[in-house]
Amino acid sequence: MSEREQAMTFEEAKERIAALRAEIEHHTYLYYALDAPEISDAAYDSLLRDLKALEGAFPELDRDDSPTKRVGGYVERQFSPVHHAHRMYSLDNAMDEAELINWMEGIEELYGHLPALCCELKIDGSSIALTYTRGLLTQAATRGDGTTGEDVMANMMGVRDVPKALERSSLEQVADPDVPLELRGEVYMPKSSFEALNLEAEAEGKKPFANPRNAAAGSLRQKDATVTAKRDLATFMYSISDNRALWVKGQWELLEWLKGAGFSVNPDVQLCTTREEVLSFCTACLEKREKLPYEIDGVVVKVNDFALQDTAGFTSRAPKWAIAFKFPPEEKTTRLLGITVQVGRTGALTPVAELEPVAVAGSVVARATLHNEDEVHRKDVRIGDTVIVRKAGDVIPEVLGPVISLRPDDALPWEAPTVCPSCGMPVVREEGESQLRCVSIDCPAQAAERLLHWVSRDAMDIDGMGKEIIGRLVEVGRLSDVADFYSLTEPELASLTTGRVNKEGAAITLGHTVAEKLAAAIDASRTRGFSRVLCGLGIRHIGKNMAAEIAETYPSMDALMEASEEELQQIDGIGERAAASIWAFLRTPDNVSVLERLQAAGVAMAVQARPGQAKPQSLEGLTFVLTGTLTDLRLSRDEAADALKAYGAKVSSSVSKKTSFVVVGDNPGSKYDKAVKLGVPVLDEGQLAAVIDTGQPPVL
Ligand code: AMP
Repeated sequence: MSEREQAMTFEEAKERIAALRAEIEHHTYLYYALDAPEISDAAYDSLLRDLKALEGAFPELDRDDSPTKRVGGYVERQFSPVHHAHRMYSLDNAMDEAELINWMEGIEELYGHLPALCCELKIDGSSIALTYTRGLLTQAATRGDGTTGEDVMANMMGVRDVPKALERSSLEQVADPDVPLELRGEVYMPKSSFEALNLEAEAEGKKPFANPRNAAAGSLRQKDATVTAKRDLATFMYSISDNRALWVKGQWELLEWLKGAGFSVNPDVQLCTTREEVLSFCTACLEKREKLPYEIDGVVVKVNDFALQDTAGFTSRAPKWAIAFKFPPEEKTTRLLGITVQVGRTGALTPVAELEPVAVAGSVVARATLHNEDEVHRKDVRIGDTVIVRKAGDVIPEVLGPVISLRPDDALPWEAPTVCPSCGMPVVREEGESQLRCVSIDCPAQAAERLLHWVSRDAMDIDGMGKEIIGRLVEVGRLSDVADFYSLTEPELASLTTGRVNKEGAAITLGHTVAEKLAAAIDASRTRGFSRVLCGLGIRHIGKNMAAEIAETYPSMDALMEASEEELQQIDGIGERAAASIWAFLRTPDNVSVLERLQAAGVAMAVQARPGQAKPQSLEGLTFVLTGTLTDLRLSRDEAADALKAYGAKVSSSVSKKTSFVVVGDNPGSKYDKAVKLGVPVLDEGQLAAVIDTGQPPVL
C-alpha cells in the first residue's frame, strides 16, 4: 500500500473510488462510443491504476462491475450486436522495463523455466474479429465490451487486405471444417492516410480525428459502408478465438498460417528465449516506431506454446500468458515558466516556451518552439499555465496547449516584444506574415546565427566550429561576417581563450590539436562548391535545394550577378519572392563586398567540373525520389542522389504525379505510401544500383 492510500480513511477511499469510477466511465464513453477522447491514453491508464491500487488497499470496496475488471468498449445500438462465442480479452500492461521483467519472472516461476516468447508490435488500431465459415468471410465484429461486439461486416468488406475467402491450401490445417473460424487482429489507418483525412476534414470545416486509432475506429463504425471503403483502412491479424480450431501448436506457427491463408501479418515478430532478447526487441521497436507507416503503442509479449498458454489461463479481463509493454507516453504535462524570444539569422523573432523540465518519449524537454505571435494567442498559453507537451520520437517537442482547468489566477498572457531582444531596435511585422522581424543590419543575434549557418552541414560544413567558438570569436572582434573565417590563422585559434579557467585560475585556450582541426576544416570548405556557398549565405527563402537549382542554371557567382529578377523567376522551383530576395541580396553593397572577400580568400564561387559531369545525360527528364535508409548500396542518400544527378536526372524530396520513380530503402516513410497511392513505380536498392552503374533508366 502506498503512503497516500495508507493515510486514507475508509470513507475517504469510498468517495475517491466512486469519483474515479465515474471519471473513468466518462472517458471510456468518450473514447469508445464517440471516438473523441479528451485525455491521453497515458492519463486514462493512470486513472485506472489509481483505482486498481485503491481497490487493492480496500478490498471491501472492490466490485465485479468496476472498470478495472472490464474490457473497455461500448456496444452501439446502430449496429446489430454480435455475441462472441469466445470472449475477446484486453491485455495487461507493463508500463516500464521493470514491470516487464517482473511479468517475465512470474512466467518463469509459473512454468519452472522461461518458455519461448513471441514478441509482436502492438498495433494502435481497433480490434476486429473476422469469422470464416467453410473458408468464406461471413461475419466481422468489433470487440465491444469483450462479450458482445458490433456487426461491422458491410464496412469490413471494403477493407482491401481482408481476404473474402481463405486460401484453399490453408484449410487443410482446420480441425473441423464445419466449425466457423474466428480470426482476430487489428484494423488501423496508415499515418499518411490519417493526415490526408484530417486535411480534408479541416478543409470542410469538420472536426479532425484526435489520432489514427480514433480515425480507424470511427471509420469502421460509419453508418454508410461506402464512406468506410474510401477511408484506406488496413489490417494486421494475429490471433484466433480458439486455438484448438487449427492444427497449429503455437503463436509463431499461427502467424505463419495466417500469412498462408491470405491475411496481412505484421513482419516485425521475434521468438525470444531470454529476457535480454525480449528487452532488446522492445528497445529496437521503440527506436523504429517513428519510421513505421502506422502507429504502434507498444510490444505484445506472448507465451508461444498454446498448451502452456492454456495452463496459465485468464484473469477477468486479460490473458495471464501475455503482456503489453507500453511505450513511454509521448504527451506529458508540465509548467510553462516563461516565454523567451529567439532571433534567427534572417531576423525572425520566435517565441520559445521555457518549461519545467519533463521527460517525454525518452528525453528531457525544457524548451519548445511556439512558432510565432499568432500561435501563442491561438493556443492561449499563459505564463504559469500547466501545458501539454508532445514529443514524437526524434521530432521537435511541441506545446499542444494549456490545461485550462489548472490555470492559476495569476497566469500571465504573453505580450509580443516591440523591440528586438538582441539589438533593441523596433521590430516589424510585414503584411501577410505571421512572424515578427528585426530588420536591423547590425543585430548581433542575427550575425551570430548567420555565421553558424555558414558552417552548418548543409552549407560549408566546417566541422568543429560550433556556437561557443563562434561566440568567442565574435566577442574578441575577430569574426563579424562569413568572409572573416578565411583570415583566421591556426596560431590565433590555438591561443583563443574559451572564457573558462583551469584549477590554477589560468585561462583555458583552444589549444593546438583543436586549432589544427579547425584550420583544416576551414580550408576544406573553400572547395565545397558553389551551391553550398549559395546556401551558406543565408539569403532569405533560399535553402539547400533551391541553392542547388540555382547553381544548375547559373553555375557561377558572376553569371548569377548578371541575371535579372525575371530571369531568376524562370529557374525551376524559384518563385517571385525567392527571386526578389536573391536579386536584392546581390545588389546590397555590404553583401557584394563579402562576396568579393570570399573570392579573394579562394572560396570556389563557380561550379567545378567533377568527374561525374563527364557522364552522358542519359537520365535527363526523369525525376527520382529517395525514401528510407539505403543499406546494401554503401552510399548515403545524398551520395546516391548525386550519382543520379550526374546522369542528368532530377532528385526531388516529395512525391507527385510527375515523379518517375521512388527508390525505397529500409523503413521507408510516407513517401512510399504516396508512391503506391499515385501509382508511381517503386525501385528497390538493387534496381537503383543498376541505374547508377549503367546510367540507364530501370527496366520494370
Ligand atoms: P488495450 O486495448 O490497450 O487493452 O490493449 C489490448 C488490445 O491491443 C487488444 O485488444 C488488441 O486489439 C490490441 N493489439 C494490438 N496489437 C496486438 C497484438 N500484436 N497482439 C495482441 N493484441 C494486440
